[in-house]
Amino acid sequence: MSITPLMPVYPRCGVRPVRGEHCHLIDEDGTRYLDFASGIAVNLLGHSHEGLISAIQQQAATLMHVSNMYGSPQGEALAQRLVDKTFADTVFFTNSGAEAVECAIKAIRAYHQHDGNEEKFEIITFKNAFHGRTMATISASNQDKMHKGFSPLLPGFRYVDFDDLEGAKAAIGPHTAGFLVEPVQGEGGIRPASQEFMKGLRDLADEHDLMLALDEVQCGVARTGTLYAYEQYGIEPDIMASAKGIGGGFPIGACLATEKAARGMVFGTHGSTYGGNPLGMAAGMAVMDAVANDEFLAEVREKGDRLRGRLEQFIGNYPDLFEEVRGMGLMLGLKMKGEPRPFMVHLRDYHQLLTVAAGDSTLRLLPPLVIGDAEMDEFFDKLSAGTASYHAEAAA
Ligand SMILES: *Cc1c(COP(=O)(O)O)cnc(C)c1O
Repeated sequence: MSITPLMPVYPRCGVRPVRGEHCHLIDEDGTRYLDFASGIAVNLLGHSHEGLISAIQQQAATLMHVSNMYGSPQGEALAQRLVDKTFADTVFFTNSGAEAVECAIKAIRAYHQHDGNEEKFEIITFKNAFHGRTMATISASNQDKMHKGFSPLLPGFRYVDFDDLEGAKAAIGPHTAGFLVEPVQGEGGIRPASQEFMKGLRDLADEHDLMLALDEVQCGVARTGTLYAYEQYGIEPDIMASAKGIGGGFPIGACLATEKAARGMVFGTHGSTYGGNPLGMAAGMAVMDAVANDEFLAEVREKGDRLRGRLEQFIGNYPDLFEEVRGMGLMLGLKMKGEPRPFMVHLRDYHQLLTVAAGDSTLRLLPPLVIGDAEMDEFFDKLSAGTASYHAEAAA
């Protein structure tokens, strides 16, 4: 037998973390890594946040799980918190980002079909998007590498170039039910949509009675310096998927919607065994307690500006390696002239700095939102040393 007990769908690297301390990961053999990946925008409070740890410990000792057949004081409290802080009137809790997007897809279709309009089912999505790995969410992305071996895909998606408002408009037809878009593409390479694009999609949705659904699984929950990225576009969606950071490391997700958008999501139309269980809700509430306030969000914006400013200055030293810095808040990308992966590996293996490669030749920088001056300085020490040795190696 040659297959590994862990199904070999990930090309796992040699770093084998067993412990986390604030913004660092410590692996099996004691090596310390500076974590500018945060489990891909998940560990927004770092790895040892007391509020999050004690909330989970206390809830685990009180009541971990009950069925959604029963009333949920814990779920009501977190849903109310999200409703108070966002465009939404109602929330469905899930265990992952893909499930939150699945719920958004179902809500878009049900909005039209709840009273029998089954002609409306097509969702316009955007090239190089990433929405998850379930059948519906891979079908929502145009990326062939995620489709191979899994046909037939779920029908009813139409792919248009990202940030192409004219293309989106031209794709609207008699079957169109809505749009699904990441305000800042994550896996696609930290590409923020333009203001005109997001405003234009909102207008098109209003004009044609379509649902505007946002996938804020990666860019949401304070990552860009506002609780959700849409706030910086001066628009509100009808539906939004959130996950990753929302549990700070505990696996939860959420699909948020307005009352109008959720009109098809009635008794018996959707469900989840674990979704919204008390343990997950305690984690989500601890995260909201920490991040959903002006002071924390202002700090994220200030740190994001500082990191970006220093990065812009830094890449000026290596015009043959780097093209630009882009992103919002602490969701930043270094667009490179070549492949980002070898550079990511070099920083990891020789300088103990963890980052994430993404599409469009971009290296993602996703530090915990709680980084301080010391970690910022350590990052630039590692990045400077790493870039110098990488550059010298490439020249040799
Ligand atoms: C990670 C991600 C998902 C999928 O989340 P999972 O928790 O892995 O299912 C969906 N959309 C975006 C934008 C993501 O970054």
